Amino acid sequence: MKPDNSNHHPKILVVDDIPVNLQLLQAYLATQNYRTFIARNGVEALKQVEVVEPDLILLDVMMPKMNGFETCKLLKKSEKARFTPIIMVTALNEIESKIQGIEAGADDFISKPFNKLELLARVKSLLRVKSLHDQLQEKIVQLENAKERLRELAVTDGLTGLKNYRHFKDVLSLEIKRAERHKSPLSLIMFDIDFFKNYNDRHGHLAGDRVLQDIAILVTKNIRKIDLAARYGGEEFAVILPSTNTKNSRIVAEKIRKLVEDYHFPFQESQPNGNITISVGVSSYPSSGKTFEELVSCADKRLYAAKAKGKNIVVDEGEC
Ligand code: GH3
Ligand code: MG
Ligand code: MG
Repeated sequence: MKPDNSNHHPKILVVDDIPVNLQLLQAYLATQNYRTFIARNGVEALKQVEVVEPDLILLDVMMPKMNGFETCKLLKKSEKARFTPIIMVTALNEIESKIQGIEAGADDFISKPFNKLELLARVKSLLRVKSLHDQLQEKIVQLENAKERLRELAVTDGLTGLKNYRHFKDVLSLEIKRAERHKSPLSLIMFDIDFFKNYNDRHGHLAGDRVLQDIAILVTKNIRKIDLAARYGGEEFAVILPSTNTKNSRIVAEKIRKLVEDYHFPFQESQPNGNITISVGVSSYPSSGKTFEELVSCADKRLYAAKAKGKNIVVDEGEC
C-alpha cells in the first residue's frame, strides 16, 4: 500500500535515548494532532524511517554509540529520509554544535529545555516545507507520466494501436544498422487488404475500421516480442522481423496471411473472393536490399506482384 504522506496528520519521528524526553516531546506534539513515533537510538531511527516514512524527525544530539550528527548524516543519505526535514535537539546552545549539525544535514535546531511554543512553531514551519516538497514531487511524477504517455502517443497509430509510420521508419533504420554490425539477417513483411474499397463502399467506413483493428490484433498476438508491427498507412501494414532470414520470414508471412484468411470478419461473404484476405510482400536484408528505401520498395513491389497474381498470397522472391 502507498504510504500515507498526507499532511492532515503529519508523522513525526522522535529520536531520543532518555524516556522522559521522549514523553515530553510526544505530549507537546500530541496537542497538535501529529502522529508520533519513537526511536531510542540512531540504529532504531534508521529502521523506523523505512517503516514509518515520517514527515519530520526530531533528533537528539547526545545519544550513546551513534550520536545525533552521525545519525543525521546517515538519515540524509537514506532513500526514505533524504528529503525529510530534521530538527536537532541539543542541550548545548553552542554555535559549534549548530555548525556540526548543519554540516550533517540538519534543517533546524531546538535547545533543551524546550519552549513548547517555539518547538511547535519550528515543527509547523518545517512541515510546511515538507508538504510543499511532497506536492512538487507529486507534480514531477505526474509530469513524467504525461511525458511518457505523450511519447507513446507520438509513435502510435490512433485507430489500430500499432506503431505508426514514423516509428516504423526509425526502427527499421536502426535494425538495418544492427543487422550490418552483427552480420545478421533481417526481414520486412508488408501487406495490404484485398478489395478493401469494396468492403468500405458496401459496409461503411466504420466497419472497415473494425477490420483494420481486428487485423492489428491478429498480427500483434502472433509475432514475437522483438518483432514490430506497424500501420504503414491506409490499409497497408508492415512487420519488421529482426534476425530472420528469407526462409523464416516466409513462414511468418504465410502464417499471417492464413490467420486473416481464417478469421471470421463481419460481412466477409460479400467480398469479391468471399472472404477478407491480404496480399503479402516480403523483403530481406541483405539479399533484397541494404537500405530502408530498398527494403521497403522491394517488399512493396512484391506485394503488388502478389496482387497481380490474384491476391491472397505471399510473394518473397522476384524482382525488387
Ligand atoms: P486491392 O485489392 O488492390 O488492394 O484493392 P483495394 O480496394 O483494397 O485498394 P484501393 O487502394 O483501391 O482502396 C483502398 C481502400 O482502403 C480505400 C480506402 O477507403 C480504404 N482505407 C484506407 N484507409 C482506411 C481507414 O483508415 N479506414 C477505412 N475504413 N478504410 C480505409
Ligand atoms: Mg487493398
Ligand atoms: Mg491499397
